[in-house]
Parts: sequence; C-alpha cells; structure tokens
Amino acid sequence: MRKITLANGRNIEVDCLSCALTSGAIEPDGGVVVETEYFHAHQDVAYPIRGLIIVASKRHITSLDELDEREKIDYINLLTKIRRAQRDILGIEYVYYFYNEDTTHHFHTWMVPRYEWMYHFGRSIESVRPVLLHARNHMNTGEHLSEVMEAIAALRQELNK
Ligand SMILES: [Zn+2]
Repeated sequence: MRKITLANGRNIEVDCLSCALTSGAIEPDGGVVVETEYFHAHQDVAYPIRGLIIVASKRHITSLDELDEREKIDYINLLTKIRRAQRDILGIEYVYYFYNEDTTHHFHTWMVPRYEWMYHFGRSIESVRPVLLHARNHMNTGEHLSEVMEAIAALRQELNK
C-alpha cells in the first residue's frame, strides 16, 4: 500500500491509484468524463489545464503491448473521440500525448492541450514537465479551476450523448 495525497488534500492508501480511480473506489475531482468497457477518462485537477484528460485502462497493466485486441480498438477509438471533442467543444488545436511505462500507477495516457502560454516553456517535449508544474503551482486559483470544471462538464456532455 502507498499513501497518496489527492488534489483535494485528502490522504488515502491504495495499491494503485489508477485501479482506485477506474474501479470507482475514488471519485476524481470533477468526476468521470467518459467511460468505456475497458477505459476510464478523467481530468487530474491537480494540473488545472482546461481540457487536459487522462485515459486509464481498467485492467492493471503496464505497457501498450499488454492490451488485448478489444482493448486496443477501444483505446484508439476513445482517444480519437476525446480528441475530436477537445477540438469541437473547446477549440483545442493541438494536443500532446504522454504515456510512460515506469510509473507507480498503471497504464494511462495524458492528453495535454497546447495553449499559447506554454510556448514560453519551450516548443516541444522538453516543455511538458515545466508546463505541468507551472499549472500545478501557479494556476490553482478560482478562475482557472472554474474554467477547468466547465470544460470537464462540456466534454462529459459531448462524450456521453
Ligand atoms: Zn492498477
């Protein structure tokens, strides 16, 4: 068991945070954006970036090559559907995708929208971590959080109709 501090300051003990989220044992702040048979999508509000989505498998696996045939199809269809909604509903022109296998959580993909202000931190992959830290440390204000919550609600509505 590991102790994890959630975005809302609550401390919990879980074996795997992704399992806790995808099974519904923990409700992410802002709620589930969309769920399929094999995947679960939510926003990590600790990083208050409008339209940022994390897509996690429901199965406790580590790597892309562990997905079975049905999961692979579900995965790409869900990513595509979310990407389309980010574009159509939120006007997001570019998204960075990030997924690493050496994480303490299980298989999950970050979809990080690209906004103008982020170019201040660089133009490519090297800017991702500084951008996320900037958001976490300097954007946890009421204005950004309400923007993030509105985007979650808009995406949820679009993706569940
Ligand atoms: Zn897990």
